[in-house]
Amino acid sequence: MKAQVQDEYMDWPVPAGPICEMNYSPDQTCFQLWSPKARSVEVRLYDQGEGGDVARMSCGHIHHIFLDKNEDGTFGGVINGDLKGCFYTFVVKDENGNLLNETPGIFAKAVGVNGKRAQILDLSTTNPKGWESGVKPVLVHPQDAVIYEMHHRDFSIDASSGMLHKGKYLALTERGTTNGQGEKTGIDHLVELGVTHVHLLPSYDYGSVDEARLDSPQYNWGYDPVNYNVPEGSYSTNPYDPAVRIREFKEMVMALHKAGIRVVMDVVYNHVFDLKNSNFEKTAPGYFFRWNNDGTPANGSGCGNETASERPMMRKFMIESVLYWVREYHIDGFRFDLMGIHDIETMTAIRRAVNSVDPSIIIYGEGWAASTPGYDANKLAMKANVHFIKGIAAFGDEMRDGLRGAWYDDKKGGFLVGIPGHEESVKFGLVGASYCGGVDLTKVNYSREFWTGEPCQMISYVSCHDDLCLADRINVTLMARRGKKKSAEAHEAECVRLQKLAYAAVFASRGIPFIWCGDEIMRDRKGVRNCYNSPDSINAIPWRLKSEHKDVYEYVKQLITLRRHLRWHEGGEYHFLPVKGSNVIAMFSSGVVIILNSNRRTITQEIPYGVWQIVSWSDRPPMSVSAGALPTFKGSSLKVPAQSALILVERS
Ligand code: CA
Repeated sequence: MKAQVQDEYMDWPVPAGPICEMNYSPDQTCFQLWSPKARSVEVRLYDQGEGGDVARMSCGHIHHIFLDKNEDGTFGGVINGDLKGCFYTFVVKDENGNLLNETPGIFAKAVGVNGKRAQILDLSTTNPKGWESGVKPVLVHPQDAVIYEMHHRDFSIDASSGMLHKGKYLALTERGTTNGQGEKTGIDHLVELGVTHVHLLPSYDYGSVDEARLDSPQYNWGYDPVNYNVPEGSYSTNPYDPAVRIREFKEMVMALHKAGIRVVMDVVYNHVFDLKNSNFEKTAPGYFFRWNNDGTPANGSGCGNETASERPMMRKFMIESVLYWVREYHIDGFRFDLMGIHDIETMTAIRRAVNSVDPSIIIYGEGWAASTPGYDANKLAMKANVHFIKGIAAFGDEMRDGLRGAWYDDKKGGFLVGIPGHEESVKFGLVGASYCGGVDLTKVNYSREFWTGEPCQMISYVSCHDDLCLADRINVTLMARRGKKKSAEAHEAECVRLQKLAYAAVFASRGIPFIWCGDEIMRDRKGVRNCYNSPDSINAIPWRLKSEHKDVYEYVKQLITLRRHLRWHEGGEYHFLPVKGSNVIAMFSSGVVIILNSNRRTITQEIPYGVWQIVSWSDRPPMSVSAGALPTFKGSSLKVPAQSALILVERS
């Protein structure tokens, strides 16, 4: 631990009731802001979301008031009259008498362009027709989830997407879209593929895309939160009208729910883009962040600051923010960015609070930080501590890097390209980082202990938005391993085989499978590693690939179907079968055998003697599970083709 917790902040008073900075009724609007050390707090009213002058209000209302200080650290006050549609900001005078810049508060629920001012809005007017009676798709157990991580712009911006509202929330409401060759795109593609959840990259209001300049293409992943409780404006059709982004976000959720797909939000409570100009710092300076002894901000996020979830008001903020998205937007899951910066107590409290509304909501996160956080490591929601937090999962980087190679060197390969020594790391992921006698922990890359309490506390993946996407990584590592490629065709065929083998491992795992958007049609990003702000030419999914890589798509789709039918991830008898040599893994689970062979030659694998049906070869076109013509054989060994996966079912 390189920094010390600033205990003085722990003594600041915290209000008992929910955080409510603006409460509208047609007769009056109540304002409240938490800022225990402030000398004064002022509310300013505006008739527009940016520009204009407080003194020239056209709606005739008084343009500002000073709020009264309360015992619980808040300042409150009331303005009479119907203020619907007015914009407002708070201005805090800090304990030293400095007037801080205007802020819409920490919990604005509607904002104008670029999130600078909050709006007085009756949220019930933003509900699309049928919103209140909308039904969520059923999720019986988190282990049944199949997660599809996506970015709004990647998903729909390419001309071949066939979608009308490119780069917008509304793209995820469009049905019947195709890629021009007749292959389904958009929601229909997701339904056809069989995923249960979409995981949206940051969709709260972030700062790196200028909402006032949407006529020129801009791209960002959005890990730079501005207003945590408002949808991002650039994905709406009109960022100037606060109701529009809210309504369109809800329309998106409703359309996905109707299609049988749940919605996960990526939440980034662990840091802000610009500490000094953040709404936290303009509201209660110092309180929401961890600090080093020398007064500089602790920086576990690698982005220049980290928030302090252990402080009661920050913890309260996170709990209420999550509940707000659940209740107001019907969100079904949360992915916590750098969850390892948050403390275990806060994550446990969030899980508990969410359970009281809907226990089927899934929560998972990155069980690490970018750098050492300024808090006691034993109390942080790091991967190694995940077994202490029932109902929360973490990403399994052991299998990810076991398969593709270590994250810190793009050219380093792993199991996929046939480098021996990664088998135990892959097996660690196959068992969901949960106890299994057949895994040699001394040979696992990052962990010396199993870290989940149950397998569904691990997210099983090989690729996400970070770093090279799978197709690029396979391409680069194959080139590095083999030197000059033979022919373009042979190289391409090898890449296809390994793309399938990688996803066979992801779905073979007892953890929760996770797909990065476009991997299922083998999209690449032209070898760009950190493309958080790269143009569409890098990030857009070219939907023509669905036709070009139909075999990869059909294979991933088949893996989802087979897992759902055969349920090998559910437990029961589970062990690894003995193998000869390296680059082969054979696992037996609940009557199913899955064999992964990354050697460039056919191998012979021993299996328990019996009658077996082969339900999937990754190197052949998929077969229908229900088809009666599946080949059956009796015996105790079989051949597994080079660089392929094979799934067999025991027939007694
Ligand atoms: Ca924004």
